[in-house]
Amino acid sequence: MTRYVYDFTQGGREMADLLGGKGANLAEMVRMGLPVPPGFTISTRACRAYLTAGALPAGLEEQIAEHLAALERSTGRRLGQVDDPLLLSVRSGARFSMPGMMDTILDIGLNDLSVLGLARVPGRERFAWDSYRRLVQMFGSTVMGVDSTLFEKVLATIKREHEVADDTGLDVCDLIRLVESYKDLVREQTGEEFPQDPAEQLRRAVLAVFDSWNGERARIYRRREHIADDLGTAVNIQTMVFGNCGPDSGSGVAFTRDPASGHPGSYGDYLVNAQGEDVVAGIRNTVPLQELERLDPRSHAQLCGYLRTLETHYRDVCDIEFTIERGTLWMLQTRVAKRTAQAAFRVAAELADEKLISPTEALGRVSGDALSRLMFPRFATHGVGDPIARGVPASPGAAVGVAVFTSAEAVRRALDGESVVLVRPETNPDDLPGMVAAQAVLTSRGGKTSHAAVVARGMGTVCVCGAEGLTVDVGERRFTAAGTTVNEGEVISVDGSEGTVYLGSAPLVDSEVMRYFESGGQEPTADASPVVGAVHRLMEQADATRRLDVRANADTPQDALRARRFGARGIGLCRTEHMFLGERRPLVEAMILAETDAARSEALAALLPLQREDFTGILAAMDGLPVTIRLLDPPLHEFLPDHTTLAVRVAERAALGQVPDARDTALLAAVTRMHEENPMLGLRGVRLGLVVPGLVAMQVRALAEAVAERKRAGGDPRPEIMVPLVDAVEELRLVRAEVEAVLTEVSQETGIDVGCPVGTMIELPRAALTADRIAEDADFFSLGTNDLTQTTWGFSRDDVEAAFFSTYLDKGVFQVSPFETIDRDGVGRLVRIAVTEGRRTRPGLQIGVCGEHGGDPASVHFFHDVGLDYVSCSPFRVPVARLEAGRAAA
Ligand code: PEP
Ligand code: MG
Repeated sequence: MTRYVYDFTQGGREMADLLGGKGANLAEMVRMGLPVPPGFTISTRACRAYLTAGALPAGLEEQIAEHLAALERSTGRRLGQVDDPLLLSVRSGARFSMPGMMDTILDIGLNDLSVLGLARVPGRERFAWDSYRRLVQMFGSTVMGVDSTLFEKVLATIKREHEVADDTGLDVCDLIRLVESYKDLVREQTGEEFPQDPAEQLRRAVLAVFDSWNGERARIYRRREHIADDLGTAVNIQTMVFGNCGPDSGSGVAFTRDPASGHPGSYGDYLVNAQGEDVVAGIRNTVPLQELERLDPRSHAQLCGYLRTLETHYRDVCDIEFTIERGTLWMLQTRVAKRTAQAAFRVAAELADEKLISPTEALGRVSGDALSRLMFPRFATHGVGDPIARGVPASPGAAVGVAVFTSAEAVRRALDGESVVLVRPETNPDDLPGMVAAQAVLTSRGGKTSHAAVVARGMGTVCVCGAEGLTVDVGERRFTAAGTTVNEGEVISVDGSEGTVYLGSAPLVDSEVMRYFESGGQEPTADASPVVGAVHRLMEQADATRRLDVRANADTPQDALRARRFGARGIGLCRTEHMFLGERRPLVEAMILAETDAARSEALAALLPLQREDFTGILAAMDGLPVTIRLLDPPLHEFLPDHTTLAVRVAERAALGQVPDARDTALLAAVTRMHEENPMLGLRGVRLGLVVPGLVAMQVRALAEAVAERKRAGGDPRPEIMVPLVDAVEELRLVRAEVEAVLTEVSQETGIDVGCPVGTMIELPRAALTADRIAEDADFFSLGTNDLTQTTWGFSRDDVEAAFFSTYLDKGVFQVSPFETIDRDGVGRLVRIAVTEGRRTRPGLQIGVCGEHGGDPASVHFFHDVGLDYVSCSPFRVPVARLEAGRAAA
């Protein structure tokens, strides 16, 4: 016969799958000898059987009856007995905590007769009727489906009639009347009497808890928390103890340390003469735990002892619920406590200091997500209000500024000292100056790998993109969201960690952890905050543990220096296209529009010194560390003005009978000529290098000359040249020959060896599948998981997130965007193939990753597992990647 029911004395913490978190921890406390009111747990197995078959499994009711009989024997009281009856609580308790999402019914066992028995116990008359009215109310709404507000209305009427503000103001007669009114209400609403048989009460309460697993609240919560739908809940049936027996009784919650700050020492709230539900519901004001020391020193001392015992036993911060019934302390629940990011770091480091856990275990207690929450300013918890829009939290942090709608306006206002938020439908390279000037970027389209998201993250600028319901009218310089219109110059607040937008100025809290990283992660001084000290100790531990190196994606000396301060050991991706923007645009245009070789050479020659200067700066900032320079990647038309804008400009002049602007006409012709239906799959990456004569040579020469200059100045430049978007080894071979010819040339000209490794990105499925061949000509691989994800799934990285990912997430096609966390099964498989095949050809081949996944916590663990050498990510994610790489190796 399948076993479905376990006494609290028969379980333990290791049985959480079967007994649920609450049941397993109650059993653990019994095992530890703590005072737990006796009871038993109906397992999740029973719930699963019930939910599958739609009926209680055979044998379950008999097992419940046996355990109930044993409980009655051990307590010396029977359920429903007329004289001081046994009362039970029936509570849900799934494997993973789902606070408040499922049902609870208290005081099972009271009926019209047993209430009289209970009322006869001296001093318990009021208490008995109060408990009975709670049962009718809870059972009526939870089990029998009566709208709970109807009970509230009846209660409010009686309170009004007696002019009392608080439930405690009702006397016995009022409560007796209340019970009758409640029972009438149940009869009216359901056509059924409130059940008087305690066994029926118990049975129906258990069924209600099982059913609540599939209630709407629970289902929504599980989806949000990624909890599987088929786990089911356990049901805990426990002898009731009462905190509402007078001034020597009460209920409370306590933590072994402060779950908000991590401060050591017990922490909690207590409510005299109340049941646990009253504490949680916040009906009356609680007092701090210290107050219990004055009220009941014995229970207080006992409780503090138990808290210490629990923390030592669980080797972590625990929270508990407790009740004191006439001076006797009972433990009703414990679990490992949820905590803020701040507390997570402090507690982990201090538990390791106290030798309660090992330093590597301490790493397991924190996370990159928690660290990133600590690294950015955030809005204070008060004074924020409701968001007017929600979007993708694309770049974390919080910022307040005036809304502006063009890059030029952002720059203008920023120069005037204003803090601005750049609001656009989406951004493109033209918006870069505005994005640099802005405190935050907000877009109505695009996801986490859209231009706005990638660039903002790279710069550490707050960004929310793809905000639903946001309509941006650039022409009118305003946006509307949730029925609110925001005009240019009005203040908004943007939370890039949460993806929310607020009207007006929300109060900000600065980040001390960011200051610590900005100052190079030096050992904090004695007066530094305990959180900074904890972050420092855990980062040191992560660095000592990790096998993966961490580099940064950076294109400017400033970003390179910041990345270095944050602990990056080199640059894994320098996107040279970012050096083709701004005032260099006319030179780039001249190169693209050149109709003869001579004109193109001239344009390239003009670009060369500027590129050289860029490279010199970056190599100096990363002196002594590797710098991976990627040859130009995007299609050239991205550097030309937008087709529609040009066409309108040309047409307007024509309509006005004016002479056409020669430059505009030439540009329009070029843009039209270069138009591609799928530019992401078009003339870009290595293909450009093979098609546009002189482009590769110019970039390589600029780099080689910069290397020579740095070496002459006594520096230690360590460049690596990377070829993007390679499909076939032949492409790489052709470009490599050109690269090497230029390197040899410059070495000869300068008398300085400027030779360096030449490698490739692996960012197309064909490259991954033929990695053995490609490795013949590549000194290193860098996985471009953005393009690899785009091309493996066939998802346009700029469009799909806004277009349909929310539907895909809702329908469970995936739990998280594959552009955010690496898809292990598909893209990950290609990564494994590339690693294995590449190293088969070239043992020890250096392989890193420079796609956005390089800074994503879950993906970092995958890259550790597949044996990469390093991950490369935006400078602000470097600390997160270091920590997660340490956690992966711990
Ligand atoms: C990639 O594709 O992963 C990559 C790093 O290159 P980019 O994002 O510049 O296309
Ligand atoms: Mg790419």
